[in-house]
Amino acid sequence: MGKKRIVIVGASLAGLRAAETLRKQGFDGGLVMLGAEAHLPYDRPPLSKELLKGDVGAAALSYHPQAWYDGQGIELILGSAATGLDPVARRVMHAKGPHGAKGHLQYDGLIIACGARARRLESGMQKRGVFVIRSIEDSLALKAALQPGMQLVVMGAGFIGAEVAASARALGVEVTVLEAAASPLRRVFGEGLGMALGQLHGEHGSVLRCGVEVSRILGHERVIGVELTDGATLPADVVVVGIGAVPNVEWLAGSGLSVGNGLLCDEFLWTGCEGVYAAGDVASCVNTWLGERVRGEQWTTAGDQGRLAALNLLAGKEGHQAFETAPYFWSDQYGCRIQSIGRTVSADLVHLLGSPQQRPFVGAFVENGLTVGAIAVNAPRQFAKLRPFVVRRAASADLPLL
Ligand SMILES: Cc1cc2nc3c(=O)[nH]c(=O)nc-3n(C[C@H](O)[C@H](O)[C@H](O)COP(=O)(O)OP(=O)(O)OC[C@H]3O[C@@H](n4cnc5c(N)ncnc54)[C@H](O)[C@@H]3O)c2cc1C
Repeated sequence: MGKKRIVIVGASLAGLRAAETLRKQGFDGGLVMLGAEAHLPYDRPPLSKELLKGDVGAAALSYHPQAWYDGQGIELILGSAATGLDPVARRVMHAKGPHGAKGHLQYDGLIIACGARARRLESGMQKRGVFVIRSIEDSLALKAALQPGMQLVVMGAGFIGAEVAASARALGVEVTVLEAAASPLRRVFGEGLGMALGQLHGEHGSVLRCGVEVSRILGHERVIGVELTDGATLPADVVVVGIGAVPNVEWLAGSGLSVGNGLLCDEFLWTGCEGVYAAGDVASCVNTWLGERVRGEQWTTAGDQGRLAALNLLAGKEGHQAFETAPYFWSDQYGCRIQSIGRTVSADLVHLLGSPQQRPFVGAFVENGLTVGAIAVNAPRQFAKLRPFVVRRAASADLPLL
C-alpha cells in the first residue's frame, strides 16, 4: 500500500468503483474524487430509459448519498473539471479551488476515470430543440421538450439512439430514426443481426431509415427539420444526436501521457506513468480476453476497470493483474431487453432459441468451433446460463440446451 493520497479524476461509475475498492482493501490515506459535474456520482443508463420516460426522478439515480462519502472519508470536489496534469510534480490542476482561485491537488496515486462525452455535430447544435444525451441535465431537458404527437428525429440507431426512440414512443412522440450505415448496430453485430434487431423500431411505430445521412439541421433559432445528403428534408420538432461518444482527454495535453482514441494504457490499466492508472469510458486498454486494444463504453466494463485500476495501483507493478473480461452490454428498448457478451462480429451466429424476430431469442457466436459471444433478447435466464460458456470459450458442441 504505502500511498498517502489518491486522487480520482471523474466522479462517476468507474471512479466510484475505484474509490469503493480502495477503502475495501484497507487503504486509509486521503481519497479525493474530482468531478466536472455538480451531482453526486449517478447511474447513467436510466438517462435514456426510466428518467426520460418519467418512471424515476433524478434523485433516485445517485449511487450513494453524501453521508456515505463522509462515512468513507472520501472528499468529493464536484463541479470542477481537471484542467491539467503534471506527472513529475504529481499534481492535478482543476478549475475551482478554494475562494474562487484555480485549484491543484497533490497525489501519490492517480486514477483517471473522466469518461466520455456525447459526440456533437459541427454545426446546428445550438438551435433550440437539438439535444444530445449524456447527463441528467440532457435527459431532463429532452424530456421537457417531448410532447405527444411531436416529430422526433433521432440521428444514429446505436443503442442510445434506439433507447431514446423507444422512450419517446412510450411518451406518444412520432419517431424517425436515421442511420448512416446500411443497418443499425453493424459494428457491434454485423449487418444481418443488426437489421433484424432494428425491426423493433417498425414493430413499435417508429420509422427506421438506414443508409441516410443528415447534411444540415434546418431552422433559425429553433429546429424545424433536417436535410439529408440526397437533398430530401424531414420535418422535426426535436432532434436527438446519438452519434457516439468522444473520450475526455483534452485536459491531458502536455502531460506526457499517451492519448489516441482515449487515454492509452496497457493490459494492467497502467498509463506508463508512475502511479497513474485509467479506467472506464476514457481508457483505451488491451483487454487480454479479446486480445486487442479497445475503449469500452459499457457500464459493466467501467465498473470492472475502476475496481482493477484501484487494485493495481495498490499492488504496484509486481502485483499487477491484467484486464481480462468478456465485454458485456445490455440495452432496454420497446419493452425488450437485449444482452450481449464477448465477440459478436465476424463470427457465425447460431440460433439456440427463437430468432431475432421470434422472441425470446438466444444466439451464440461461434468461431473455429468455439463459443466466443452470445446475444439474447428477452431471455435473461438463458443468457445467464450461456454466459460462462462464452467466458471460457467453450466448444460449441458442448453448449447447453436452453
Ligand atoms: C444515456 C446512456 C445510456 C446508457 N445505457 C447503458 C446500458 O443500458 N448498458 C450499458 O452497459 N451501458 C450503458 N451506458 C454506458 C455507461 O453508462 C458508461 O459506460 C459508464 O457511465 C461509463 O462510466 P465512466 O465512469 O467511465 O464515465 P462517465 O460515466 O462518462 O463519467 C465520467 C465523469 O467524469 C467527468 N469528467 C469529464 N472530464 C472531467 C475532467 N476533466 N475533470 C473531472 N471530471 C471530468 C464527467 O463529467 C463525468 O461525470 C449508457 C450511457 C449513456 C450516456
